[in-house]
Amino acid sequence: MKLPFYFIGLITLFTACTEIQPELPKGCEEPTMPGDHMMSGASLIVLGTIQDAGSPQIGCRKACCKDLYDQPNSDRKVVSLGLIDPESGKQYLFEATPDMVSQCHELGNYAGPGKNLPDAIFLTHAHIGHYTGLIHLGKEAVNASDIPVYVMPRMKIFLEENGPWNQLVHDQNISLQTLEPQKPVMLSGQLSVTPYVVPHRDEYSETVGFIIHGPNKSALFIPDIDKWERWETDIIKLIDSVDYAFLDATFYDGEELNDRDMAEIPHPFLVESISYFESLPETEKSKIYFIHFNHTNPVLDPSSKARQTVLEKGFNLTQLHEIFPL
Ligand SMILES: [Zn+2]
Ligand SMILES: [Zn+2]
Ligand SMILES: [Zn+2]
Repeated sequence: MKLPFYFIGLITLFTACTEIQPELPKGCEEPTMPGDHMMSGASLIVLGTIQDAGSPQIGCRKACCKDLYDQPNSDRKVVSLGLIDPESGKQYLFEATPDMVSQCHELGNYAGPGKNLPDAIFLTHAHIGHYTGLIHLGKEAVNASDIPVYVMPRMKIFLEENGPWNQLVHDQNISLQTLEPQKPVMLSGQLSVTPYVVPHRDEYSETVGFIIHGPNKSALFIPDIDKWERWETDIIKLIDSVDYAFLDATFYDGEELNDRDMAEIPHPFLVESISYFESLPETEKSKIYFIHFNHTNPVLDPSSKARQTVLEKGFNLTQLHEIFPL
């Protein structure tokens, strides 16, 4: 009997996958089971570390991105944290990024069987890297049911009054919950999230950072802020009050974008943050985890001098998949 070519192909593929081999070919590996990642206590998981527009960034042909079109780096995910609470079996997502599909999947793996979507989402502001992933919760996608999305009042109005976001509200895919500055949202008896308003380019919404309090530790998360000096809150005191501080490190220095006016997109340059925090004791500096790296930021290159400088000064650069017990 002559078998059609595609059928032989299928048999070959099947045998290749079922044969016992010391090293499984690509595509035949055992899937990671949710239970493999179960945590013993409340923890934060880093689900993304890159600035809103990702890496490679559209239109970029510079050295930072040119090889990433053909060889994508799976570590380049837009900034997001996951929060797991094994006690209640709940999981929370900070930011709804353009990479939200894979980020929810990773979070679900940590949370355990049957958890495919977060129990709630916290959003910092209405810039593309921080909320547009919400589209995946609508009718064209998973058609989620009433996922609580915590936002500040202006952000709430923005989502309620503009498409396509208002369809998510109308269809009850999401249920918007209003945050109040510095008022904790209690997720359980031992877990809370408190928003802090920060200065940023607020075209459509306010911008907040969060402090996430766990039973033993707490973390500050400020992915976007204009400059530390423009904030009436003393960032150094805030760092003192937490165990980890994930802080905006979009650009390394003012030379980075030669085709854009950097005054229009202010962020604390990493070199500025280093000098701002340099005189802190080692224990304080070791709490700082820089995050939200622009595609041009040289610290993304493991062999760069910039990366070495940040680490030698006693600071950390946030790594994807890193876990922080709370
Ligand atoms: Zn951002
Ligand atoms: Zn680039
Ligand atoms: Zn922003």
